[in-house]
Amino acid sequence: MEIFCMLKIDILTLFPEMFTGPFDSSIIKRAKDKGLVEINIHNLRDWGLGKHKTVDDRPYGGGVGMVLMIEPLYNALKSLRPQTANHRPLVILTTPQGKVFTQKIAKKLSKEKSLLIICGHYEGYDERIRDLADEELSIGDYVLTGGELPAMVITETVTRLLPGVLEKPDAVKNESFSPLLEYPQYTRPENFKGKRVPKVLLSGHHAEIEKWRVKQALKRTKKRRPDLL
Ligand code: SAM
Repeated sequence: MEIFCMLKIDILTLFPEMFTGPFDSSIIKRAKDKGLVEINIHNLRDWGLGKHKTVDDRPYGGGVGMVLMIEPLYNALKSLRPQTANHRPLVILTTPQGKVFTQKIAKKLSKEKSLLIICGHYEGYDERIRDLADEELSIGDYVLTGGELPAMVITETVTRLLPGVLEKPDAVKNESFSPLLEYPQYTRPENFKGKRVPKVLLSGHHAEIEKWRVKQALKRTKKRRPDLL
């Protein structure tokens, strides 16, 4: 069987060990094993400055905490980016100040050949780092300690959209945010303490089931996330 890599993801982090568990199980492991995604974790400290491999410094003007310096990141990007312009990765900066990551953005990213995700830490970045990125992404309106969990969220969401990763490719078509929230689902038993499975789902009538699902998806979206309509 021919195996070819569809998406390459490079992640720059100060905590490479955080990725071992999540990237070695379930969908991501399967996608890696099938050669559908290649994920490389790089330690930003390898590009740190001086004997102590320093990557951060105090902010000019004072203030709490440390700030990631531009030089280690600049040097890391320079050595990780291939020389040929047509294989240039899309550089993503994880930051709570970025555009909120959505399924729509994930779909767009799944069409890229190569992504390079930068995980911040400490109090954030030297502002000039922003010029090195193509996209700034946030995973929600809250502040995490580092960009590692956001990088995992982005990687997992994008990977499961790649052709061949999910065993049933149709699964992503009806999923939430495509564009509605998904319809309610049931499995055995038919009756649990008086709570019954809707009759239509037991009817075997596919057209009726489909009609019910569309109606339920609309109803649910209208109630929970009217902004999606
Ligand atoms: N001082 C920064 C601010 O107020 O905007 C927050 C820095 S945060 C403690 C450190 C790093 O965690 C960020 O540089 C970013 O990489 C990551 N991070 C934290 N929250 C995030 C979020 N909601 N989405 C994406 N990245 C986030």
